Amino acid sequence: MRTPSQFIQSFLFITCFCVGVLGLGLISGCPSPSPVTESRLMLGTSITISLHDKAPRSIFEEIWTLVQDIESRMSINATAYDTTELMQINRSSGQQGVKVSDDTLEVIKEGIRIGHLSDGAFDITIAPLVSLWQIGQDAPAIPGEEEISAILPLIEYSKIQIDSEGQVFLPHEGMGIDLGGVAKGYAAGKIAELLKSRGISHALLDFGGDIAAVGSKPNGSPWRIGIQDPAANRGILLGIIEIADQSVVTSGVYERYFFLDGIRYHHILDPDQGYPVRNGLTSVTVITKDPATADALSTAAFVLGLEKGTTLIASINDTEAIFVYEDKQVFLTDGLQDIFELTSEEYAISPSAYRE
Ligand code: AMP
Ligand code: MG
Repeated sequence: MRTPSQFIQSFLFITCFCVGVLGLGLISGCPSPSPVTESRLMLGTSITISLHDKAPRSIFEEIWTLVQDIESRMSINATAYDTTELMQINRSSGQQGVKVSDDTLEVIKEGIRIGHLSDGAFDITIAPLVSLWQIGQDAPAIPGEEEISAILPLIEYSKIQIDSEGQVFLPHEGMGIDLGGVAKGYAAGKIAELLKSRGISHALLDFGGDIAAVGSKPNGSPWRIGIQDPAANRGILLGIIEIADQSVVTSGVYERYFFLDGIRYHHILDPDQGYPVRNGLTSVTVITKDPATADALSTAAFVLGLEKGTTLIASINDTEAIFVYEDKQVFLTDGLQDIFELTSEEYAISPSAYRE
């Protein structure tokens, strides 16, 4: 038998519990505003913008105009554009400098900065090699060794000259800048800035799998970002990472490639050797605040490989990385242990920082 005081206690407990549940029910029952989303094919990829705050629909026009603007300055895709600032720089190589917009200059400078930090593993003067290989184009083929060695001396980011008026000069004919390893991230960063300046504090920007998060989810919890399994079809995940107000950018062998005699020739090129990088990695994901930096660093860390790549990442504040190998081993930098969750049973997180 319960005593009267026990009865009152139980009554109070049940009442509080019900009110609590009801309260929660009301909160979760409130239809949380579903995000407003638009997608476009731009910058050679599919871009999806999801706004989780109220915003006038016209904001999307501003977003697409800004991305288009960046593409029309920094593309070197001759089928899409007769000329762009970057094409003008490349066509004027060995002749004269070309004055470019602040945006283009900023991306070139970021490329050079990561070039220095990675000791040239990231090299935005990779353009002649990219056009020799034609990876991702209609008729890619393995170039001859002589062709590759003739081009290698042209690939040297430290030769880029920028004068005080913002003119960019490539001192040798045939040199060329390719911003494919950094421009998508730069564009994502610009859109994030635009949204913040319009008072939007919860949004997710997906630039073909490269993610920039504006703030957290509206309820304050972090975004859960899927990391692509590099060996599986698009959309099949290797794991999930939780972030807020950061970017998550992946460089992988699955983005653009062709197969010949069982060898995958992909689009991340070794500036020293002139061939697609073959170091056992299938992807590198970098997590950091600025999406342009994340973009350049993921390409750089891929070229550097695990050991030097980890050292590079560790030298930069608040930056983490996930290295994925073709034998399905996953290496995480220290800050990821609590925020990365492996979801694929085919992969294993390596307990050691380095491969044996
Ligand atoms: P991402 O997907 O960001 O890793 O960038 C790959 C793209 O960057 C390629 O399609 C090339 O346009 C360019 N790229 C390839 N290799 C390099 C490199 N070693 N350094 C800088 N850019 C590169
Ligand atoms: Mg990149």
